[in-house]
This record gives sequence, C-alpha cells and structure tokens, in this order.
Amino acid sequence: MAIRWKSTRSADAAMVSLSEAIGQGLASDGGLFVPERLPRLQVSDFDGLSSLPDVAGRFLKDFFSGDSLEGQLSQICSSAFDFAVPLRSFSDGPRVLELFHGPTAAFKDFGARFLAQCLVRTRSEFTVLVATSGDTGGAVAAAFWKLKGAKVVVLFPEGRVSPRQQKQLTAWGENIRALSVRGDFDDCQRLVKAAFQEPALRDSLQLTSANSINAGRLLPQAAYYVHASLAYFRETGRPLSFFIPTGNLGNALSALWAREAGLPIGKITLCTNANRSLSEFYRSGTWKAFPTEATLANAMDVGNPSNLERLLTFQAKPSELVAHGVGTERVDDDAIRDGIQAFDRRWSEAICPHTATAYQAWVRQGEPKDSALVSTAHPAKFETIVEPLLGYKIPVPSTLDFILTRTEKFTTIDPELDALRTELRKN
Ligand SMILES: *Cc1c(COP(=O)(O)O)cnc(C)c1O
Repeated sequence: MAIRWKSTRSADAAMVSLSEAIGQGLASDGGLFVPERLPRLQVSDFDGLSSLPDVAGRFLKDFFSGDSLEGQLSQICSSAFDFAVPLRSFSDGPRVLELFHGPTAAFKDFGARFLAQCLVRTRSEFTVLVATSGDTGGAVAAAFWKLKGAKVVVLFPEGRVSPRQQKQLTAWGENIRALSVRGDFDDCQRLVKAAFQEPALRDSLQLTSANSINAGRLLPQAAYYVHASLAYFRETGRPLSFFIPTGNLGNALSALWAREAGLPIGKITLCTNANRSLSEFYRSGTWKAFPTEATLANAMDVGNPSNLERLLTFQAKPSELVAHGVGTERVDDDAIRDGIQAFDRRWSEAICPHTATAYQAWVRQGEPKDSALVSTAHPAKFETIVEPLLGYKIPVPSTLDFILTRTEKFTTIDPELDALRTELRKN
C-alpha cells in the first residue's frame, strides 16, 4: 500500500503522494509533510542486500509504490547514493558513521542529490532558487550540476561565507549561477520568498524550492541509518545507538523514521551546540525559540529548529521523548574545542566541530557501547578551527579538492527584488 504524506497541522488537509510532497515543499495549510505511517520492516526484509543503494531502495519501496516515480526508484538511488558511507571502528571507542564522502564533504549531499534525481524525473525545465548561509547551497549546486533541464540560482550573503564555502557555491559553472547579495542571510531568504510570490516569475521560470524542510531531502537520509544499523546488527546481533549533531533536526528526524520503521536502532541523542532551544525544552517542558547564537559548529546555529513540528508528531512532551529513547545534550564552544583535541589524542584522527558535539555527548553519557557518532562533515571544511587546535594540516579529500581548484564566478547584486528579477531573466 502506498504511503501518503499528511500535514503536521490539520488532520484534514489533503494527503499527497511523495512526488507531490516534493513538488509542493510545504503542505497547503503551511504545515510540514510527514508520512501518514511508516513501513513495518524487519532485518530479514533486507536479506541479500548490503550496498547503500540496494538497502535504500528496499527501505523506500513502500513510499514509492503507486507514485509516478515508482519505476525509477532503483535508478534514483544508484545515481544519488554513489559514494561510500563507512561505519568505522576505533578501538575501545565509538563507531563513527562518516557522512562526508559526497561532493561537498557534508551530509547534506544525501538529501540534495536524492531530491535532484527525483525532480529531474518529474519536470522538464525548471529553476531551483536557493538562499544559503553556507553548506546547503553548495550541496544543492553540486547535486544539480550538469543535470538536464535543471538550472540553479544560489543566493549568498556577500562576505559572510567562508572561502571554502564560497568556492562550493560559485565555482561549478554550467547550469549553476551564484549571486552574491549585498546583505545578510535574511536578505537572501527574503528575496527568494519574494520571487516565489511573484506569479510571473514563478511560472515562467518554473521556480522550484530545495530547502531543508522538503520531504525529498529528509526521507533519503533515513537510508544511511538503515544501512549502518543493519550492518552493525548483522555483525553483533545488537541494535546501534546514534549521537547526532543537530541544528534544524532534519538529520535526527530521518533516524527516528528509520527506527520507527523497525530497524535495529537504540537510543537517539540529539547533540546541539550552545544554541539552547532544545535543551531548554527538555528542561522546562515548554517550547520557546531563542535568538540564534554563533558557535564553532556553525551549521547547527539555529534558534528555532524548522523540523520541531515533525519531532513533536512522535511524542509531544520531553518526558515522553526521553521514555521513547530520544535524549539531548548541549555542548558549548569550549567543549567542542576540547572534544576535537581529545578525539585526536585518543585515536589520532581529526573530527569537525559538529562531530565534536556528538563525541562530547557520548563521553557525558559514560561512553556507552553499541554507539555511533554521526560525523556530518569532513574536518578539512573547517580547517580554520580544527588545524590550530591540532597543530597539523588536514589533508583535503579529493571530492573537496576538485571544487577548490576551479575558478569562482558570481554576480553581486543589491538586496532588491528588481535586481534578482533582472538576473533571473538572463537565465
Ligand atoms: C546541516 C548540518 C548539521 C545540522 O543538521 P540538521 O539536519 O539541521 O539538524 C550538522 N552538521 C553539519 C556539518 C551540517 O551541515
């Protein structure tokens, strides 16, 4: 039976298929799409399957059944997930699930590539318009690069992204264009919203969004939790717990979906940086957004996590979440620095500041066995933080090196819709 998608808000908003949920982004009542139910799977359902695309295809089967993309699921998985997802071991230490072997060296590649492969199969000519404060825009650009019929326009705040991030936004060429906006990230987001609200622009360019609340970015992330927990269970006969660096809660949601579908996953710990909305919620039981605080783990600098509504569809109260095996730890910048150094001292390996939050949470919980730290980015992406702490140079992986050696090309615009409109019309 096909799994349809419902809104987090009103129970009676019409349910849609996966490709409709992907195309619409947000539900008609402004809520977020969540699956009406999850598949009921057992380890034996995956017998004979071990590669990431094969495991992903099996996990996603019920979501695609009856959908217009049903016949293309295995092709979508093999094109989107064409890089390694090692679950490494460290002696007397945790497992580490490395999610940074894709083209932009961070886990956002999984969602962006899957979404791209779905969209090119449902539309003929379209323009993806995306505002970015750093990692997302690069993953989206890389995912759509050279895909037929697709164009991408990335807006980023002038002078506010790191040099390596800027390369990942501006050096693709071909069907990817970058606009440097004289303003901040909020200006970029405002311009994107304004463009979507202008019917003439939206329709003539077939504007499409690829933002992080899209179901087509969250669902595929479950695949690496399925893959890792299966591999661990086959090896040890035990479920695997995950420590997940968390900002907007997208990555964590994907793990919950995989566990809810019956995979052998133990406890899930949401590891945040100093931003406190989640830990305060657990402490007080009342949800409150906080102003965003800048930290060393900047991809997790979120004061009001956009996927909270989805988390609360599982259990509405922190006490229930805890009983349900979903905990949280808050890790400030001093502890992040300490974590990067400690991990290197113990296992001679550099980790990124986001992964360091997971390491510290694991230590605080008494270094439990059967646990994996989710490593969301390669440390070479954050070399200005990590190298001074460790005192050595971190080799750049070949995926990242490819884009770092290309030439940047971008246009700078004023933060006005007129300026964006002029640029879009040139497309
Ligand atoms: C986006 C990101 C995160 C946070 O993931 P969410 O899905 O927003 O919780 C963590 N680490 C890195 C490197 C990221 O790019």
